Amino acid sequence: MMKPSRFNHLVSFSRGVELLFNSFSKQLAVLRGARAKQVRALLSHPDTAGHDQAARQCWRELVAHGYLVEDALDERGVYMHERLEAEASSRHLGLTVAPTLACNMCCVYCYQKPNPVPMTRQVEDALIRFFARESVSGGSAAVTWFGGEPLLRFGTIRRLSQAFLGIARSRKISYSAFLVTNGYLLDGDVARRLVRLGVQRAQVTLDGPPEVHDQRRPDRSGAGTFERIWANVQAASRYLSISLRVNVDQTNADGIRPLLERIQESGLARRIDVYLGQTFPYTDACSDIAEQCLDRADFSRLSLETAWEMVCRGFRSSGSSRLPQRRLTVCMAERANSFVVTPSGGVVKCWNEIDDPESCVDHLLRPRDASHQAAASRWKLRDLAEESCADCSLLPICAGGCPYVARRTGKPACHQWRAELDRSLSLYYYLRVRSRESEIAGRFGALVDAVRGLAGIDAESGNRGAVEASGAQGSESLGRHS
Ligand code: SF4
Ligand code: SF4
Repeated sequence: MMKPSRFNHLVSFSRGVELLFNSFSKQLAVLRGARAKQVRALLSHPDTAGHDQAARQCWRELVAHGYLVEDALDERGVYMHERLEAEASSRHLGLTVAPTLACNMCCVYCYQKPNPVPMTRQVEDALIRFFARESVSGGSAAVTWFGGEPLLRFGTIRRLSQAFLGIARSRKISYSAFLVTNGYLLDGDVARRLVRLGVQRAQVTLDGPPEVHDQRRPDRSGAGTFERIWANVQAASRYLSISLRVNVDQTNADGIRPLLERIQESGLARRIDVYLGQTFPYTDACSDIAEQCLDRADFSRLSLETAWEMVCRGFRSSGSSRLPQRRLTVCMAERANSFVVTPSGGVVKCWNEIDDPESCVDHLLRPRDASHQAAASRWKLRDLAEESCADCSLLPICAGGCPYVARRTGKPACHQWRAELDRSLSLYYYLRVRSRESEIAGRFGALVDAVRGLAGIDAESGNRGAVEASGAQGSESLGRHS
């Protein structure tokens, strides 16, 4: 006996096209006409395929791709089991390292308490020993350089990176590193040196065009920072993969479009990724910005509209236009072998607790004590089967949301898929069709233009009619469209 998966999503797209997505198997199927009807019938009554050849083939595909599952299968239990294994896995070491909590900028929404005391050589040496102890030969290690502004302490990044790379090489550990920076010091020369230190990617923040960004992210004297960061992004993107983060709230949402225009005009649109970050009053230190923050639904909508705008402007695809990925844990806070190291040698589990000594779950220079154990117990892996996530069909792609927010608010911090999954899947499907169109356009450009003209399709606006015009290219297979 079979039953429909609890993780199925059926989305009506337009003009008879339906999308069937399963958040556990990550399969997306495009359905039309009689096929859509047949699939809906089999999902409602899985054991009615009978002897009809087409219905039996459809049934087999629904089973193969996880839309229909054994009646006795506890899908949520399987997910929870995999989640527990991921939490306990020690083959991967995740380290976020803050060489300093000092910063050369003064952002209006910053939640960190600035602290000018940088990481000492003693802490550096202890951290190298920690890396050697916690990493596993033949496994992997990922380091994130964080702050404050980490590039204020380039010497620490250099010394630690050289030591980490040496250990990784000698023990066949796959090593990667990522930098979170405000971009002010990330010029081309620094980017080139970072690459030699194993850093492949960097996140830089610009909050809009100059007049918007400079109000929100000035330097410590109050002067604007946009033009310098902008020049740095252009230079650094020749060496590093750059993700440009735009922190949005109600006061700067209108600045997104002018920023995208500037990126497009500069030719950066195909070289960098751009995504929106949601400002959130994570800690008491930033409770005064709570009123201007966007709520989850508005933020999700804005992310999707921005993804659409980026597609129309020829940007590289953004996160919002990709198929959701399965996640077993949300972040390092939920993984046993992942840590955040503060400049003074404290070890915490969450980026938001980097300046809070009471949150240390360990210390590089002191033996572990009862206060560390008490702090660690707050990060015990949540049993999502007992929370409001238990019956959520998005569980495999959300994993219960940020545990820090859940703890502070008593409510799950739902991923933006919760508000926008249908439209996200529709956008993804549209982009797949669109990219196939551009392949064809490359070969038969004039012909495609002529067909568009005949069909009355507005190629510039990319309206949804285009999907139906090229619908014949969408496969009827129930397998993944990725
Ligand atoms: S617990 Fe939340 S805020 Fe902390 S690192 Fe994880 S996702 Fe980020
Ligand atoms: S946090 Fe929200 S979207 Fe995520 S699994 Fe829980 S209920 Fe679902």
